[in-house]
Amino acid sequence: MKLPYRQAVEAICRANRIMLAAHVNPDGDTLGCVLALTHALRILGKEVVPYSAHGVPDIYEWMPGASWVQTSGPPQDFDLAIICDAGAINRIGSAVAPLAESAPLLINIDHHVSDGLFGDVQLVDARAAATAELVYHLLRSLQAACHQHLLTTEVAVCLMTGIITDTGSFRFLNVTPLTFALAAHLQRLGADPAPIAEQVFENRSFAALQLMGLAITRMEVSPDGQIAWSAIGYEDFQRLGAVDADTEGIVSNLRSVKGVQLGILFREVKPGSVRISLRSREGCDVTKIARVFGGGGHKLASGCSVEGTLEDAVSKVVAEATRQVSPP
Ligand code: 5GP
Ligand code: MN
Repeated sequence: MKLPYRQAVEAICRANRIMLAAHVNPDGDTLGCVLALTHALRILGKEVVPYSAHGVPDIYEWMPGASWVQTSGPPQDFDLAIICDAGAINRIGSAVAPLAESAPLLINIDHHVSDGLFGDVQLVDARAAATAELVYHLLRSLQAACHQHLLTTEVAVCLMTGIITDTGSFRFLNVTPLTFALAAHLQRLGADPAPIAEQVFENRSFAALQLMGLAITRMEVSPDGQIAWSAIGYEDFQRLGAVDADTEGIVSNLRSVKGVQLGILFREVKPGSVRISLRSREGCDVTKIARVFGGGGHKLASGCSVEGTLEDAVSKVVAEATRQVSPP
């Protein structure tokens, strides 16, 4: 499949005022892409505003350019909007979506399995391990077209962060020889993986580890041993002084139990509103479960939200998962 990099390059060259948007509950990939593009497009003299409706979680605050990120803003005359790592336009949040929608041209850069593509130029490839891989190719094309060095150390660090986080440090099934080739180039450009991994994975708050302990203590496993789940209530977050970003990594621990095919983490982010993360092993496509509840994502990592009590959410989603994963 050939992606329209040339069209994206031409759109960027023509634009002066560009807005970039990350998805809600931002991760290292969406932020890495938005920040890498912000650095590079500013080198080209563009006026660039990076948005992340949910800001920058503590574990990513060290990323070069993190302080530039805006959570919302008044309407502005952007010539171009670029959305990174969001399977649907509403995934950038209601505070930012109108800004992107009012731009005359929209570039969608993504690697999610998507039902409907959005945007005027679509750099979308579900085989890419991270959206950062696609941004890397775009920047190479842009570099060649503009005869300017764009893959600076800052840009490389941002892209490496996206690749490390979306591949679980090069452990997931999405990793290809291209992922390693690209990472090797980024490291030569100054993006050492070790300090990035340390910042992201070994710099956690006390509350985050307590939350992990709580979730693991409460873990339940289905009678056939195929589904493991756990639930964190709003009151638990309050009591431990934890935030939703502190749940990072918990769901993959649920899936790591021997024999478990599917891990599900439920958390009541505010009373009556439950966020759900699903992680599976190969052979079990969790987008099918997430979609039943209006969510989506990747085959092995998806998410959705359910309104109602934590107990209701657990019973509905576990029942659906059981229907799909371990029918009687
Ligand atoms: P997480 O569990 O880390 O929040 O999300 C896992 C994956 O599913 C991510 O790629 C994320 O973009 C996607 N995802 C999470 N929640 C939703 C949702 O509500 N809707 C859609 N379409 N995708 C989601
Ligand atoms: Mn991603």
